[in-house]
Amino acid sequence: MAAELIDGKTISQKIIAEVAEQIQAGGVKPHLVAIQCGEDPGSMYYVNSQKKKAEAVGIQYTLEQLPADTNQQQLIAKVEELNANPEVTGMILQMPVPEGVDRRAVQQAIDYRKDVEGICPASLGLLMQDRPAQVPCTAMGAVELLHEAVAQLQGLDVTIVGRSEIVGKPVAMLLLSMSRSCTVTVCHSRTRELEEKVKAADVLFAAVGRPQIIKGEWIKPGAIVIDVGINRIPVLDENGEPVLKENGKKKMRTVGDVEFEVARERAAKITPVPGGVGPMTTAILMRNTLEAAKRLK
Ligand code: NDP
Repeated sequence: MAAELIDGKTISQKIIAEVAEQIQAGGVKPHLVAIQCGEDPGSMYYVNSQKKKAEAVGIQYTLEQLPADTNQQQLIAKVEELNANPEVTGMILQMPVPEGVDRRAVQQAIDYRKDVEGICPASLGLLMQDRPAQVPCTAMGAVELLHEAVAQLQGLDVTIVGRSEIVGKPVAMLLLSMSRSCTVTVCHSRTRELEEKVKAADVLFAAVGRPQIIKGEWIKPGAIVIDVGINRIPVLDENGEPVLKENGKKKMRTVGDVEFEVARERAAKITPVPGGVGPMTTAILMRNTLEAAKRLK
């Protein structure tokens, strides 16, 4: 029987609605500032979508656009200025930062109480100590989808493929927390026998960024699959040739890291891509922003 889909779109809309309701009720005025250097198109896309979502829930959103050649000292000075500004309750450092700037040094300068992305060392340290303040948005969103899928996490064998600071590692820390108490295996590019690690998992998190690297037949029957990957691949016709658009460019589609159709026949529950973890990231960002503003009051 085909697995039930874990509907990230609906779940994220619920989170967004709750955030909007709390802001409308008054008493807190979240103000989120995004720092962007230059006009990288990918980053512009994120800024525009964050702004739309933020304003829709009643969060004031300001873009601090700095020149593309901003240096590290100037960037840290901007962060410190925002740290000191009581009107600013949350901060996002948009990637990429200019060449020659150490992203970590800038992130370290962010007052952790305003770190709504949960990426500065203090935020990550608190997460490791099992008393998180702000958790990286995608990781938190992915774990919330797991909570939606299963009531009791304690003792489950979880395999995470990917060990990035924004997804794999924070997901591992969240699942190791006392309140969740999963047994966690974290895999990466040097992992031996990845297939065996995936096959053993009651729950799989895939966060690699390689289309369908996790084969559907590796999924343990009845497992829960949370696919974080977002990959663009060409649409193929029946002869395996790329389908072209009117402008001659290849028609593309979005897929995850898991071979979805086969995995769906084995798993109990699975996130679709798109429509799974993707929409959760912005929703959690909005909730982190609200929570930061509440704590700063
Ligand atoms: P990173 O590139 O930072 O990390 C990828 C991880 O995958 C690394 O730990 C890497 O290992 C591991 N890896 C690479 N190749 C293999 C392999 N062959 N076998 C096992 N592990 C491998 O990616 P992110 O964590 O930032 O993102 C992961 C995916 O999630 C991407 O598709 C991204 O687009 C998506 N994403 C989605 C978001 C959303 O839903 N809104 C937000 C953020 C990310 P190693 O450490 O050894 O290099």
